[in-house]
Amino acid sequence: MHVNRRACLLGGASLLAASVTPATAQTPTPSFHRTKHGAFEIISVFDGYMDVAAAGAAANKTDTEVDATLLAAGLPKSRILQPINVTFVRTTSDLIAIDVGAGPNFLDGLGKLGDSMSAAGLDPKAVTKVLFTHGHPDHLWGAIDEFDDSIRFPNAQYMMAAVELDLWLSPDAATKLPTDRANFVPGARRNLTALKDKLSTFKPGQDVAPGIRAIDTAGHTQGHTSFEIAGPEPLIILGDALIHPVISFAHSDWRPAADHEPDRAATMRKALLDRLATDRARILGYHLIRPGLGRVERKDAGYRFIAEAS
Ligand SMILES: [Zn+2]
Repeated sequence: MHVNRRACLLGGASLLAASVTPATAQTPTPSFHRTKHGAFEIISVFDGYMDVAAAGAAANKTDTEVDATLLAAGLPKSRILQPINVTFVRTTSDLIAIDVGAGPNFLDGLGKLGDSMSAAGLDPKAVTKVLFTHGHPDHLWGAIDEFDDSIRFPNAQYMMAAVELDLWLSPDAATKLPTDRANFVPGARRNLTALKDKLSTFKPGQDVAPGIRAIDTAGHTQGHTSFEIAGPEPLIILGDALIHPVISFAHSDWRPAADHEPDRAATMRKALLDRLATDRARILGYHLIRPGLGRVERKDAGYRFIAEAS
């Protein structure tokens, strides 16, 4: 268990200090949330919080406009504390992870997936399949152990959209990302190279497991994929199709700085929100309020996120 090895390296004094420090973004408590959906058990497992600049949620708006929207919703201004919710789907034959968290090397406060899985009683060796929504660090860099590059889920088969895999492996990948995100490429290649013997691709619309279909939500990245879980109503595992519980819903035309193709992403968000509201679908968002579950309602000229009571 990598976290324990890291704790050993910190030594006893540091452990004592950590144990009396109040919970913050830097010391998140491992947690998980279970729910049922049709024939499936869904477990939302916590990897930590990303403390990021609010301006990044809307690159085409001023800080004043972004802060006004956050304050009106009762949220702090300037900074956004984004959780990472990794979805596990248990079927009769499989334990499927949708994305793998950030690992500890991307930003402080992340890489807690292993501890949260332990709390949930999930054994990394029991994971049979991993589906990637896209190749950004907070979704992919948890694939390998930071000490020895060993694969964290050694018995799993891995799947990513063909377009997404091509993006990260193409020689000119860095030119297809926002300029200030070009440094995501080496880490993506390192993780994808480690997985290459276990990695296969899919296309949008394809069933990637019984009852689980890949749906095209490209724009955030060129091959971004969400996953639809069959049930009494659809459950859509969103990945980063909708990243903020207020801005992505009320202002789907505001462009997050991390979007690779901002206009396409805005068009995708609007169409997706319309469908989710019409279908009364359940959603689980990677960065929505823990544990990320909820629904979409129309509100004024936009939409709003209704978190599921847990
Ligand atoms: Zn993300």
